[in-house]
Amino acid sequence: MIKFLDIQKITQKNADEFKQAVGRVIDSGWFLLGDEVRSFEDNFSAFCGVKHTIGVGNGLDALRLILRAYIEMGIMAYGDEVVVPANTYIASILAITENRLRPVLVEPELDSYNIDADKIEAAITPKTKAVMIVHLYGQCAYNEKIQTICNKYNLKLIEDNAQAQGAIYNGRYTGCLGDAAGTSFYPGKNLGAFGDAGAVTTDDPNLADVVRKLSNYGSSVKYVNEYAGLNSRMDEIQAAVLNVKLKYLNEDTRKRRAASHFYRQNILNSEVMLPTAINEEGHVWHLFVVRTKSRTKLQQYLSDNDIQTIIHYPIPPHKQKAYCALNCLNFPLTDKIHNEILSLPISPVIADYELDQVVSTINRFKP
Ligand SMILES: *Cc1c(COP(=O)(O)O)cnc(C)c1O
Repeated sequence: MIKFLDIQKITQKNADEFKQAVGRVIDSGWFLLGDEVRSFEDNFSAFCGVKHTIGVGNGLDALRLILRAYIEMGIMAYGDEVVVPANTYIASILAITENRLRPVLVEPELDSYNIDADKIEAAITPKTKAVMIVHLYGQCAYNEKIQTICNKYNLKLIEDNAQAQGAIYNGRYTGCLGDAAGTSFYPGKNLGAFGDAGAVTTDDPNLADVVRKLSNYGSSVKYVNEYAGLNSRMDEIQAAVLNVKLKYLNEDTRKRRAASHFYRQNILNSEVMLPTAINEEGHVWHLFVVRTKSRTKLQQYLSDNDIQTIIHYPIPPHKQKAYCALNCLNFPLTDKIHNEILSLPISPVIADYELDQVVSTINRFKP
């Protein structure tokens, strides 16, 4: 069986280092707000090229906390609008609605699957306060056009960097491209922890300060509460694991790129459309997403041939029951994408013989 993502194999690669790191935390008897988190925050700041990283509980909270902080800072207010791609993972939208802000969905481009910069301006109203770009499937969504629009309308540019740690735009890493970024270290992400974890990255010292307080009960001095905050902190064990993982992230990304390159060179089947990288450095291949009119058949055929695939994602946010107010909206490109996409196995540990097998199996596929 070729697994979609073999997290056991990924973990085995550095098992001794992980055991040492976790053992160090166990021996210290200190599990929250300690040295491991502080050092991970410094390491991740240096990696992304930002001034501040705040470790938090998960990726959804990272995005929630950015928006909540802007509300506390008086930069946004309930009912304000945030422009966001219609084909994103539900967490981007949840972060907006949890703060009683309004998501304004914009169609993606069919080639990059990222928000179509040419469609953003039409979605802007006097209530718009931010654009949340999502580096979907690992491809950087940032470009000068989006930055220019944000400057012109005085909008915050927020990155959902959950899928793209290590992607580069003109020499700068994702996480430092906008005003703030939220990222996720969910175990299946490119920089995955051993449980839930996330982080906010930003150059803005005020935002960093408010996010840090909000994530810790709205407090920086114990039992003194400046905000009605929440409890969303990265724990020491996750930070210790991530300190090990971060050292190997660029190497892991190179392996993902090599796998993607192999697929793109060798999958030759007119039924299967391959993904494109706008720029090779700008894509870290969190997912390798193909498109086909015969998705059900292809997925079944691959499964019959012992190849695991997943659909990211089968139902777009505007079709979810949770967002019935959005159900009447029409996003034909988003619908098309959700109906045709299929994610093939890809990871830093996928073996050459596995890549060969996926390629030859797909090349034999006839709907
Ligand atoms: C995974 C993910 C999130 C949420 O991260 P969690 O750590 O699972 O809360 C947000 N946005 C995108 C695009 C994601 O892929």
